[in-house]
Amino acid sequence: MSDSIRRFLFEGAPIRGEIVQLDATWRAVLERHDYPPLLRTLLGEMMAASALLSATLKFDGAMLMQVQGTGALRLLVVECTSAGTLRATAKWEDPLPEGAGFAELLRGARCAITLVQPDGSQSYQGVVEVVGDGVADMLMHYMRHSEQIETTLTVSADEGRVAGLLLQRLPESADEDPDRWDRVRMLAGTVEHAELLGLAPADVLRRLFHEEDVRLFDPQPLAFRCSCSRGRVESMLAMLGPEEVESVLAEQGHVEVTCDFCNRTYRFDPVDAAQLFAGGTRSTGSATRH
Ligand SMILES: [Zn+2]
Repeated sequence: MSDSIRRFLFEGAPIRGEIVQLDATWRAVLERHDYPPLLRTLLGEMMAASALLSATLKFDGAMLMQVQGTGALRLLVVECTSAGTLRATAKWEDPLPEGAGFAELLRGARCAITLVQPDGSQSYQGVVEVVGDGVADMLMHYMRHSEQIETTLTVSADEGRVAGLLLQRLPESADEDPDRWDRVRMLAGTVEHAELLGLAPADVLRRLFHEEDVRLFDPQPLAFRCSCSRGRVESMLAMLGPEEVESVLAEQGHVEVTCDFCNRTYRFDPVDAAQLFAGGTRSTGSATRH
């Protein structure tokens, strides 16, 4: 089953894992924006990592993983909800510097994870400087630093699919086999991108851990979905206030807001805009302009 995540555990050992593969979800992201190849890889790897990490955290609502850059890369963001939906987008200066790699693009960048409750309130989880030379390094550093859980992570992305494998050593109990964690962590590190992207999850685990007793749980489906709506855009415009909205109307004749995630455009003509503020508080003078 594609576009799903599967939990697994090592029988009798305080080690758990997740394996994820996303096809249609990832293509839905790529269809909406033309990302430079390097950003495509970063965003795809972040999407796989985000699905894996969100499955290890208990929350109701959405987990937002954001990388904020200081240079040509402005922002990478992936949102994963407890209902199993994902969306992602990026902001950058086009074109990216010639030959720039992960390290140049992310110099000085920070990675933050935030949980958003269903009522919209945010609980901040943690933030780390981006270190290492890839998304997996960045997030293993995050998990060590912010969650104090030993985590090993491998993520891969190509044009049609993203995939990832995560192992965590549960801190609360000791393993009767003291070498097991190091052994399975090393084995997990031998997974090749082609295997992670191309083999079925059960085959990936069999290939890596055939001497261990691994129990693989049923797949949980994941899918692309954007939570934007006309109602949400209206609330956002209402918060901007009538003066801001009227100045855009005066200049352009209408207000257009395009969702960064799904590219859907919401258009408001002067009548729609007037309705946003009807019955609300009106700033002085705005009703009598023109
Ligand atoms: Zn949207």
